[in-house]
Amino acid sequence: MEPIELLTYFVWLVASISFILALKFLASPQTARRGNQLGAAGMALVIAWTFFTVDGMLENWWIIVVGGAIGAVAGYLGAKRVAMTAMPQMVAIFNGAGGGAAAVVAVAEFLEFADHGEGLLALPFVIAVLAGAIIGSVALTGSIIAFGKLQGIVTPRPYQLPGQRIITGVLFLAMLGLAVYIAAVENSIPLFLIFTVLALITGVVLVMPIGGADMPVVVSLLNSYTGIAVAASGFVLSNYALLIAGTLVGASGAILTQLMTKAMNRSLFNVLFAGFGTGGDTSSGGEEGEEQLKETTAEDAAVLMAYGKRVIIVPGYGMAVAQAQGPVRELMDLLVAKGVDVQFAIHPVAGRMPGHMNVLLAEANVPYDRLKEMDEINEDFADTDVALVIGANDVVNPVAREAGSPISGMPILDVDQAQHVIVLKRGRGAGFAGIPNPLFSMERTSMLFGNAKETVESLVQGVKTA
Ligand code: NAP
Repeated sequence: MEPIELLTYFVWLVASISFILALKFLASPQTARRGNQLGAAGMALVIAWTFFTVDGMLENWWIIVVGGAIGAVAGYLGAKRVAMTAMPQMVAIFNGAGGGAAAVVAVAEFLEFADHGEGLLALPFVIAVLAGAIIGSVALTGSIIAFGKLQGIVTPRPYQLPGQRIITGVLFLAMLGLAVYIAAVENSIPLFLIFTVLALITGVVLVMPIGGADMPVVVSLLNSYTGIAVAASGFVLSNYALLIAGTLVGASGAILTQLMTKAMNRSLFNVLFAGFGTGGDTSSGGEEGEEQLKETTAEDAAVLMAYGKRVIIVPGYGMAVAQAQGPVRELMDLLVAKGVDVQFAIHPVAGRMPGHMNVLLAEANVPYDRLKEMDEINEDFADTDVALVIGANDVVNPVAREAGSPISGMPILDVDQAQHVIVLKRGRGAGFAGIPNPLFSMERTSMLFGNAKETVESLVQGVKTA
C-alpha cells in the first residue's frame, strides 16, 4: 500500500472517530456545542484531504471552491439568522440538500460507468447507485415539501391525492421493475433517469398526506434516509469516511424518529398514514371547551410564587411562539434570589422539535442543572407550591391517562398534582392534538391570559414588588 493511501485511511479513521464523539457530545446540552465543533472539524479535515489528494480535484479547483463558498455562506447566514421557531424548516431544507447531493453522486457515477458496451456493471455497485438515487431523491423532494408545510407555503393540512394508495403502489412497483431491469438486464441510462424522476415524485406523494404539525417527525425520518443515501454514496465512491458518516446519520435519525413517536405515544405508521394534525399553528388546532375558567392577575400569581418554597416551570410550544425565554430566565433569577427552589420540567416532545425547550432555555442561559427530565421531576409536583405552565397544553393534559383520546397513553408531566397551577396562554386555543384540557378548569388552577412574553414580564414586575 502506498504511504498516501495509508494516510488517507488514517484521516478517515480520525474523522470517523470525531463524528462518533460528536454524536456522544450532542446528547447533552452541556457538551452539545463542543460536539458540533468536533463534527465540523472532522468534516473539514476529510474535505481538505480529499481536495488535495484525489486526482482531478486540483485541476477543477475553482468549481469546488466556488461551490463550497456558496454553500458555506448560505449555511452560515441561514444558521445565524434563523428564528428559533423556524429551526425545523431549516433542518428540513438542509437535509433535503444532503439527500439531493447523494442522489446527484449516484446519477453522476451511473452516467460515468454505465452503457460502455462492456457487459453489466458489478451488482453491488449498481445496487448502491440505485439505493443512493431512490433514497436521496425521496429525501430531497420530501424535505422540500416538509419545508413548505412548516413555512406555510404548502398547505399544512393532510392532502390526499385521489387514489393515493394506488398511486403510491404503482410508483413503487414501477421503480422496483426498473431497478431489477437496470441491475440484471441492461444498464440503461434513460431508464435510470426515469427511475430517478419517479423517486423524486414519490417524495412529494409520500409527504403531502401528512399533517404540517407532524413534519418534525417526518424530517427526522427523511434525515435518516439521507444518511442511508450518503452511506450508499460512500460505498460507490469507495470512501469509508462517507460510508461511516452516512451510517451514523441513518442510525441516529432512525433512533430519534422512534423516540419522538414513542414520546407522542403514536406509531410511525400512524404518523405517516393517519393524516393526524391540522397544521403547525396551534390556534388552528381547535378550541377548549366552554367550562368556566378561573382567572388570576400577574400580581397575585407573583405573590404566590415569591412566597412559595418550590416552583416548577413547565415550558411548552407557546413559550417558543412568544419567544418568552429571556423574561422566563429573569423570573427564575428573581425567585431564586428570594430563596425559592425553581426547577424546569422538560417534556420530551414539548414544543415542535426534539430538544426545543432545552435549546430555548440554553439560549437564555438558564443553568442546565435546573432542567429536569419528565421521569426525574414527576414525583416532585405533589410537593410543589406552584406549577407555572407557560404555553404548554398537551404535555400537561391529564386526559392522556384515560382511554379513548388522541393522546391516551402519552406520558405527561403530573402538573395537576401541584398545590397551585398557574397557566399562561393567550385564550382558549387547544394544543397540537386539538382537544380540551381539564387541567385548566381544575379547582387549583388559575389562568393568566395573554401573550406569554408580556405575561411573564408582568410576573417579573410582580415578583420585584412582592
Ligand atoms: P401544545 O399542546 O401545542 O400547546 C401550546 C399552547 O400554547 C396552546 O394551547 C396555545 O394556547 C399556547 N400558545 C400559543 N402561542 C402562545 C403565546 N404566544 N403565548 C402564550 N401561549 C401561547 O404544546 P406542548 O404542550 O408543548 O405540546 C407539544 C405538542 O406538539 C405535543 O402534542 C407533541 O406531541 C407535538 N409535537 C411535538 C414535536 C416535538 O418534537 N417536540 C413534534 C411534533 C409534534 P392559546 O392559543 O390559547 O394561546
